[in-house]
Amino acid sequence: MATLHMEGPFCLDNETISKTITRISPGNYLLGFLDDKRFVVKHVGRSDGDIGGRLKSHIGKYPMFKFSYADSPNAAFKKECKNYREFGGDQNKLKNEIHPDRPKGSNWKCQFCIIFEQANFSEY
Ligand SMILES: [Zn+2]
Repeated sequence: MATLHMEGPFCLDNETISKTITRISPGNYLLGFLDDKRFVVKHVGRSDGDIGGRLKSHIGKYPMFKFSYADSPNAAFKKECKNYREFGGDQNKLKNEIHPDRPKGSNWKCQFCIIFEQANFSEY
């Protein structure tokens, strides 16, 4: 089973997010719901600068979230790739439509797959 190192689950609503996430920081999140006390992950994501603000943009899509702060956008990117991998990069479980993106102009690579080695990612 995947390891999370995340806090939650919490209700995905304005009040809970504001109360729970008190720092403006890069971070990671999982969106999903509870199935008999088990948190079912349906979407993984990150924010490079404001994890709380990002979560607020998802209110209404899923009932619950988990999150963690990240030390840097790059750390958040790495963790998002890991989460994406662990929770079903095969699309069977997650609703994510694409592999986690990286910031424009960065040459970050995924540790788990070769997506950024392909010809259409040749900006560097
Ligand atoms: Zn990957």
